[in-house]
Amino acid sequence: MILILNQNTKQDSPEFKQLTAHLANLPGITTRIHTEKGAAQVLTEIYLIGNTQALDLDDMKNLPCVESAVRVSEEYRVLGRHKDDHRSSHFEYNGVRFGQDNLNVFAGLCAVDNPAHVEMMMKALRDNGQACTRMGAYKPRTSPYSFQGHGSACLPYVFELAGKYGIKVIAMEITHESHMEEIVDALEKTGNPTGVMLQIGTRNTQNFELLKIVGRQSRFPVLLKRGFGITLDESLNAAEYLASEGNRKVIFGLRGMKTNMGDPHRNFVDFSHVPVVKRLTRMPVCIDPSHSVGSRASGPEGILDVMHVTAQGVIAGANMILVDFHPAPSKALVDGPQALTLAELPYFLEDVAIAREAFEKRVDLGRRFKS
Ligand code: PEP
Ligand code: MN
Repeated sequence: MILILNQNTKQDSPEFKQLTAHLANLPGITTRIHTEKGAAQVLTEIYLIGNTQALDLDDMKNLPCVESAVRVSEEYRVLGRHKDDHRSSHFEYNGVRFGQDNLNVFAGLCAVDNPAHVEMMMKALRDNGQACTRMGAYKPRTSPYSFQGHGSACLPYVFELAGKYGIKVIAMEITHESHMEEIVDALEKTGNPTGVMLQIGTRNTQNFELLKIVGRQSRFPVLLKRGFGITLDESLNAAEYLASEGNRKVIFGLRGMKTNMGDPHRNFVDFSHVPVVKRLTRMPVCIDPSHSVGSRASGPEGILDVMHVTAQGVIAGANMILVDFHPAPSKALVDGPQALTLAELPYFLEDVAIAREAFEKRVDLGRRFKS
């Protein structure tokens, strides 16, 4: 059960003390307090763990400081969408809103290779009205002999160039906790010119120790990719690991499943699960068309499969798109064959806008036929 407290409840107030004293006396119940500091308000929630079936919801709602009480199912306690649960499904980070009701595009380099390419990418994004990007510094590679990413060496110029071109959020995969420290360090040294969304890649979806460490910090939001060979439930529980440790600024990323059934795409595209994840949880949902499709193949109309699947995800309500671009794909050190070019950026964005408009029209249509 979750008790959602009145806004700006002070933990040193007599009412709050009265509430916690009452809860401490409930048999078989332990509590966990979670606070979320927004720009203007502080939201406090108390998680009741244990034999909550014995508690009466109305009694709990009448306790001091309590605005509402929600009975949660065992699954996805923090991130899940429960009955009569009106908790928000959005958050803000560095001035950018991430929610189940909006859409952000993160076009950028799969792997940072050199400052010139980073600058060309960032400039193109700025010129096309974009404030987010993806930049890979730490690359998990199948072969130990493949380029592993420039790591911390590239962070200073990536962050400085982001600041120069008004980029507010960079999605960046980390594969080890030390990478988080390197990111914090580089941000401090460059004067915090931008923000970072930590990305947990598909190979680490169930790296529980990494999830716990990343979940314990609340400075950076997290993009958690679905595991490529596990069930959706297992991946959603992985997201819950982050939230249960305290960080609920989590975006869930679909990136295709590994099976030859999806051939000739690199992975079997799973964007039909966009509405499923939005129904089961309050997380914004990201799609990664690049790692799903893995090539620049196109249909007979001349539209790239990457753009087709992007549109499919967006028309189903996706909230974020993580997509590989490169100023010179043939020179990219990682995943060049699936990258779109900078000349294709305005085309891609316009195609996304068409799909988003169609999604919004579909929502309106659905409402009209329901009422
Ligand atoms: C990536 O986004 O660069 C990446 C490696 O993705 P995934 O973890 O989905 O393979
Ligand atoms: Mn890649």
